[in-house]
This record gives sequence, structure tokens and C-alpha cells, in this order.
Amino acid sequence: MGKYGLNERIAEDKTRCIAGVWNECGWGSHQCQRKRGHGKDGLYCKQHDPAKIVAKRKETEEKYRQSQEKRRASYERAEILAGMANGIKTKDLVKFKLVLK
Ligand SMILES: [Zn+2]
Repeated sequence: MGKYGLNERIAEDKTRCIAGVWNECGWGSHQCQRKRGHGKDGLYCKQHDPAKIVAKRKETEEKYRQSQEKRRASYERAEILAGMANGIKTKDLVKFKLVLK
């Protein structure tokens, strides 16, 4: 394979992050150009640290969960208010107290 062959396996640069990233033009990948020193054995840059990627995913999931929870709570409130407009039943009163807590 020639020096600029498309399938050439680029030698690992031991000073840089081991993660592979896609080239901007999209036809291949190259080694991340950031300095390593993070993650397992310090092989990754700050951005590609696997622990950080996992933490980031958890954070995203948690935000999603919270937004779902919020939506659910506001839906319940709306349901109760509608119930009030139609005359409160005993079971709605119990629910109402729970929401106001
Ligand atoms: Zn990297």
C-alpha cells in the first residue's frame, strides 16, 4: 500500500488519543489529534475518555427521565384541575393533596 493509499493503516501516534475519528470529508478515519492522558491507561484525550462518554450518556438519560417525570406531573395536575371543574370526588381530593406536597 502506497504512502497515501486509502486503506493504509496509519501508525499509532503514541502521544495522541487512541480514539479513531472520521475525517471531515467522510471517506475514512484517522487517529484523534488530541493529546492522550485520560481514561484507561491514559490512552484517551479528555473528550474520548470512555468513563466520560458513559457519564455523559447517563446524564442525557437522566435529563430525559426528568423531563418525562415533569410532563407526567403536569399532566396529573391538569387532570386534577379538570376534575375540580367537574366537582371533586373524594379520590381526587387525595390525589390533589399528594400533588401539593
Ligand atoms: Zn480523542
